[in-house]
Amino acid sequence: MVKEQENPQKNIVDTIIVGGGPAGLTAGLYLSRYRIETILFEKGISGGQVNLSEVIENYPGFPEGIIGPDLMQRFEQQAIKFGLKIINSTVLTVSPEKYENKTNFKISTADGIFYSKAVIIASGGEPNKLGVPGEQELTGRGVSYCGTCDGAFFREKEIAIVGGGDTALEEALFLTKFASKITIIHRRDELRGSKILQERVFNHPKIKFSWSTIVLAINGETQVKSLQLKNVQSGEINTFPCQGIFIFTGYRPAYPSFGEMQKQLINENGYIITDGNMKTAIEGIFACGDVRAKGLRQIVTACGEGATAAFFVEALLK
Ligand code: NAP
Repeated sequence: MVKEQENPQKNIVDTIIVGGGPAGLTAGLYLSRYRIETILFEKGISGGQVNLSEVIENYPGFPEGIIGPDLMQRFEQQAIKFGLKIINSTVLTVSPEKYENKTNFKISTADGIFYSKAVIIASGGEPNKLGVPGEQELTGRGVSYCGTCDGAFFREKEIAIVGGGDTALEEALFLTKFASKITIIHRRDELRGSKILQERVFNHPKIKFSWSTIVLAINGETQVKSLQLKNVQSGEINTFPCQGIFIFTGYRPAYPSFGEMQKQLINENGYIITDGNMKTAIEGIFACGDVRAKGLRQIVTACGEGATAAFFVEALLK
């Protein structure tokens, strides 16, 4: 419809959304219902990080909880029902492009060039790495960043989890279905995750803790065999035998290259700055969800931000 070769700048789609997690899909749902022509680009399966969660217990309306990928499938179906077009491709760059005295955006993707009048960046983030020896080499061979994806490989095995946030605690509880013993390795002596999850991990017989401890190296030739750990209080270093290590040390924002616009859009921590209406410093570019600089990263907040971005895109295009 808007590929460069076929139609240089003539058919400009109203809005392009980058990212198909809760924020992007909600923005897509709202824009489709406003009858604003919208294409959403998602590089993988719609749902983003939520797909990595076994059960979502804090999304209102599901008192029994709902499986993460199931919830995201419903988001996608609902948006498509109202006309959202989803293309599975990676957005590489977003740049401004003047056409008939108006600034539009040129969106280059792995599958061609597209143009739009507005862009919503809802591209979320990706898991942080520890950056220790062995991590990269043993990824997929005992090093994992997703319990839901890889848990079944660790039936009756002893595993370690790194991190003390909500993700680490939720995943630890999920992995108790498979592993025989789980040790949560945390760099401080206090968890960051919510109190209800803390109560559950503390009460679970399979879950133990290694406090004030960091991972120095992951050992093994073809499979993880052990970890080299350091107690940051005593300075003691020891070898911890285990067959798997799951790393949940937070996320970093992920987005396409914005070229010259980058310095106007991004804060010192790499997140996109917006106002309360999800507008960035550049007219026509909006951001919502985990990629935004903000305090709370939840599905419900992502949805609210997606709806807000759509509302102000509609106002702008009008
Ligand atoms: P997070 O809250 O940022 O927690 C990351 C954890 O990893 C922290 O405990 C941190 O330690 C530790 N850490 C960071 N870098 C490390 C390093 N280099 N070495 C060792 N440990 C390191 O990340 P998250 O748990 O992925 O959660 C991200 C956001 O999603 C949060 O806002 C969270 O509330 C939300 N979330 C919510 C739910 C839910 O409500 N159901 C589920 C998942 C995630 P310190 O504590 O010392 O900083």
